[in-house]
Amino acid sequence: VIVSRFAPAPTGHLHIGHVVNALHVWTMTRARGGTILLRIEDHDRQRSRPEFAASILDDLAWLGFDADAPPVRQSDRVAIYEDALRRLRSGGLVYACSCSRSEIAAEGAASDTELRYPGTCAARGLPEHAGYGLRVRLEATVERFVDLRHGPIEQTPSEQCGDLLVRDRYGQWTYQFAAAVDDLVQRVTLVIRGDDLLPSTGRQIQLARLLGRTTPPEFFHHALVMKTPTQKVSKSDNDTGVRELRAKGWKPEDVIDYAKSLIVGR
Ligand code: GLU
Repeated sequence: VIVSRFAPAPTGHLHIGHVVNALHVWTMTRARGGTILLRIEDHDRQRSRPEFAASILDDLAWLGFDADAPPVRQSDRVAIYEDALRRLRSGGLVYACSCSRSEIAAEGAASDTELRYPGTCAARGLPEHAGYGLRVRLEATVERFVDLRHGPIEQTPSEQCGDLLVRDRYGQWTYQFAAAVDDLVQRVTLVIRGDDLLPSTGRQIQLARLLGRTTPPEFFHHALVMKTPTQKVSKSDNDTGVRELRAKGWKPEDVIDYAKSLIVGR
């Protein structure tokens, strides 16, 4: 049985990029007779707001994107993340880390595209306490998967990002950890999301394996919606928000047609 999910972060209103993602999720999953879950990814307490979550859910319903279960919120799932953390810890895979982002940047160990954690605290045996982050020791393995659009992909998370942050210095669960745990616990078998998250896939596959997942989900990474050939649609744009389009008198089908026009030919 196919289980997919739509997993917006409530850090802004629903915009046309979300609608394109939702179209992919609903079309592909329904075509395979699958189930769709809604997950509000409010792991970032600084940037997430309940009113954005409410407006996202309202716009989705207005557009006719119906999920098969009530939405879940990551902020309600602390016990689930604690439990996953315990399992990693009992395998000796977790360590406390006192490094700030700027300290990591100053180590100069950045790989070509992103900041790689060089393992500064890996053998320090710091106590776990408030003010320290928690990291999971990654294996130096190559993660291989077949993306349903891109074909075979190889990624080496230990070289891309180094030991993964699970909980940050402010006690917040990270996106990588929360998403991998949720996809495991919610038995998600099909992940459909934008190309911007392609580099995250190998590390989420590995994290899930360390937590005991034997079969990773299938992945489909679609092209991002561009406003112009070089400019991504962003949450701060005020001309691509479903709110704004609704206020201008657009009907749900107009918004859907607009989103479809952005997919055609890609
Ligand atoms: N919450 C992520 C976002 O809004 C999506 C996560 C995912 O699909 O894995 O970009």
